[in-house]
Amino acid sequence: ANYSALLAENRKLHNEVQELKGNIRVYCRIRPFLRGQKEKQSVVEYIGENGELIIVNPSKQGKEGRRSFKFNKVYNPAATQADVYSDIQPLIQSVLDGYNVCIFAYGQTGSGKTYTMTGPDKATEENWGVNYRALNDIFRISQTRVNTFTFEITVQMMEIYNEQVCDLLSSDGSARKYPFIYCMTISDLHITCIWLTVFLNLHTLGIVSTPQPNGLAVPEASMHTVNKTSDVLNLMDIGLRNRHRGSTAMNERSSRSHSVVTIHVRGMDIKSGSSMRSSLHLVDLAGSERVDRSEVTGDRLKEAQHINKSLSALGDVIYALAQKNAHVPYRNSKLTQVLQTSLGGQAKTLMFVQLNPEVGSHSETTSTLKFAERASGVELGAARSSK
Ligand code: ADP
Repeated sequence: ANYSALLAENRKLHNEVQELKGNIRVYCRIRPFLRGQKEKQSVVEYIGENGELIIVNPSKQGKEGRRSFKFNKVYNPAATQADVYSDIQPLIQSVLDGYNVCIFAYGQTGSGKTYTMTGPDKATEENWGVNYRALNDIFRISQTRVNTFTFEITVQMMEIYNEQVCDLLSSDGSARKYPFIYCMTISDLHITCIWLTVFLNLHTLGIVSTPQPNGLAVPEASMHTVNKTSDVLNLMDIGLRNRHRGSTAMNERSSRSHSVVTIHVRGMDIKSGSSMRSSLHLVDLAGSERVDRSEVTGDRLKEAQHINKSLSALGDVIYALAQKNAHVPYRNSKLTQVLQTSLGGQAKTLMFVQLNPEVGSHSETTSTLKFAERASGVELGAARSSK
């Protein structure tokens, strides 16, 4: 009964700020309680049909402890992988119409980012996450157009860890090296160094820029042409294996790095010969949890600082786009540089905000929601509660 007053108050406010919204869609997905979990009290108190959500802080009584949010969509924890995918399918279709699309999952570790993007296992199609479904669909849709278009589909898979790009599809799972350096004589090397210095200076001055294969691809990661769904499944397997190779139980690196699957589509109209290029970025971000700086040192501190930097750079870029600012700070992190072509302009961006329902996560959940609110341009400022 309290909800209607709280929602009515916020609805007015939300409508006022609606105009500020950029072309980012924000979908909120709440992880269900897991089997065997004792704690069943949820921080989520209400899910409305129009993307409304009320979060309750168990340590504060009454209206003080409630806060409402509104996104494009909020899923009930029971929502299936198919339910979620059916909402984003039109975005995937638009990649084949020439749009750049970026879909990413944001949230603390354990909130379901990988579940949404990859899925718990690939053996059952029902469990497939967005990545498999999107790639499958790209093939399916491209097949329906074979009489009018030829498509070339290439895939890159990379991990961004401590501001470095690692190629997940290279044979050793590390960033691609530049083997030609090793075959050079000393004098060749000398000349190369001189040219490199000249080039880097010109590059810094913005007089020359680095050529990017396919116009959109990240040069640090290898490109792989795929012709059928099984090619993609094989590549994803290699990528996932490489991603986990660097991890041990004590060092679950995958939650502290961003994983990016990029699908490049090149289409040619058979009749007119005109061509189009587009890309789809599917991103499983590093866990957004704040790390207590007093408790970590060394590598962990460095990782935390890099994650912090790149996630706030991402937030700043999306915020700048939502506000239609003239300057968009893409260059502040590797992540935003990699995603640049799929953020802003005509590109379509979708953020999955992943929530852990446990009461113990209340403060992380609130900061996740605030990030999403700011990124979507629907920043309401101070907490609002029912009167
Ligand atoms: P993250 O990638 O954010 O660290 P995971 O995707 O690994 O989180 O999810 C944590 C756990 O919760 C996993 O065991 C996962 O299978 C489970 N899980 C997440 N979302 C769901 C969901 N919607 N339904 C069922 N289980 C889920």
